[in-house]
Amino acid sequence: MSHVYGVVPSRRLGRSLGVCTIPFKTCNYACVYCQLGRTTNMTNTRQTFYPPEEILSEARRFIEAHGEESFDVVTVVGEGEPTLYKPLDAIVRGLREMTGKPLVLITNGSLLFDRELVEEIKDFDIVMPTLDAKDEESFKRINRPFGKLTYEKVYKGLLDFSKEFKGEIWLEVMLIKDYNDSDGFLRELKKKIDQIKPARVYINVPARPPAESGIEVPSESAIEFARTLLNAESIENLPVSSFTTSEKEALDAVIEIIKRHPMSDKDIRSFVESQFKEESVTGLLKRLAENPNVEKKTYHGNNFYRYVLATRRSGG
Ligand code: SF4
Repeated sequence: MSHVYGVVPSRRLGRSLGVCTIPFKTCNYACVYCQLGRTTNMTNTRQTFYPPEEILSEARRFIEAHGEESFDVVTVVGEGEPTLYKPLDAIVRGLREMTGKPLVLITNGSLLFDRELVEEIKDFDIVMPTLDAKDEESFKRINRPFGKLTYEKVYKGLLDFSKEFKGEIWLEVMLIKDYNDSDGFLRELKKKIDQIKPARVYINVPARPPAESGIEVPSESAIEFARTLLNAESIENLPVSSFTTSEKEALDAVIEIIKRHPMSDKDIRSFVESQFKEESVTGLLKRLAENPNVEKKTYHGNNFYRYVLATRRSGG
């Protein structure tokens, strides 16, 4: 399956069935912390990358095979930015016909100034946008947006959306050492967040290999300060071993996961040992290392594996 991936456990959402609407690493940002690596398909144009029925039929097949009781929410998410897909309202309508479970959209929030998009996503139950920057300078430094996007336009879009959206907004902040973790920066960011009045705020940190070097997790005291100031909760990473998959082969299952979520040696070992008991972990790690679509990176003393487009690797 390429648009639907198995149920992923999440402390925020419970068991989440992911629906991906866009091709790999298609985004209008190139965030320095992106765990998917550098943006290979930078675009700001919303497109029908796939017919809605292609995406929906995969979701239907998954739900028929595993039952509605196998997940708590359906999350529309991308290996990049899902709001670059249109028509998202067709996806929402189709999913509503299949399940009564809440529908969640995870987005970088960059296109909420677009009236057509706002109309398409109005029936989601929860929208989870990101806000890491407080002004144009920090926006350019952290999120490195597509040329025409300005902080003012993006922030105003988010603010206007927050006033008319009937569901809940859960805002996420990626906290990066020496980028946006100083007391002064966070106080300015708080003023921006307060105007949006999100139902919840979450703090994330770059715990997996980022797109750029020099991206580090802030100190415990900075994280604690941000948590208290923003009245936020931290996102804790759950063990990858508890992911479930619809893939029959261990290698395919690992590759499907690392497209969205890089895995360490340890993650792969516990995932394979819990779900593919017959498989040799050593043999699988060797095959992963030989796969041209898999990149191995060392971060904080651990080996991580993430998906890359083979053409990008061979092209340097
Ligand atoms: S973190 Fe999200 S918004 Fe930023 S570059 Fe990666 S996919 Fe795009």
